[in-house]
This record gives sequence, C-alpha cells and structure tokens, in this order.
Amino acid sequence: MHEVSIALGMVDELFRIAKDNHAKKITLVKLKIGKMSGIVTDSLKFAFDAVKLEHHLLSGAEILIEEVPLVYECNDCHASFNAEDIYFPACSECGSRNLKLVSGEEQNIESVEVET
Ligand SMILES: [Zn+2]
Repeated sequence: MHEVSIALGMVDELFRIAKDNHAKKITLVKLKIGKMSGIVTDSLKFAFDAVKLEHHLLSGAEILIEEVPLVYECNDCHASFNAEDIYFPACSECGSRNLKLVSGEEQNIESVEVET
C-alpha cells in the first residue's frame, strides 16, 4: 500500500518538527491531500493510525486530513473551476482544454500542534 510509505515519510518529518520545537508530544496533525496526488485519504488515515501507535511521541495525536479539490484555471477565458474529471478536464465555461492547475496536487503537512 502506497499510503504506508507516505505516512512513514510524514512521520519522519513530524519527528523533525517535534524536535525543533522541543515537543514532548504531538497532539494534532493536519494534512492537506490533493485529489490529484494519487493518495486515498482513508488509506492514509488508516496507515497513520497504525504507524503512530509505535511511537510514544505520536501515539496520542489526532490526524485530520483535508482533501483539496482539483481546481483549474482556464488560460482562454480565465474562469476557475473544480474539475470532476481528473484525466480529461475541460473548462466548465468555454470547453477549452488549455488549462493551468491551481490546486489538487498537495500532499503536505498543513500544521502540527505539540505539547512542550
Ligand atoms: Zn474557459
């Protein structure tokens, strides 16, 4: 499962953040995951919940995942819109396929709350 390695990578980053902040415990982690990132958010949550139990620093942390919709801006008419079709998106206003991706590829840690 792809999401396990992503969770492990994020755990490494969380430990770095905790160390930089001299944290005793991580209490809350907010993640931003784009619809286009290829990550299944339910699987990521599941992987995180499994991985965090192995680490005292993280075991009590609540994991919140915000799914970021896929948003494009049209280069022709400058409309921005949420794309439902991730493979062949077209402008909802003019039908153009000349598009710029605005959001939807995120896979990052948005914020972390710690106990020091
Ligand atoms: Zn357009």
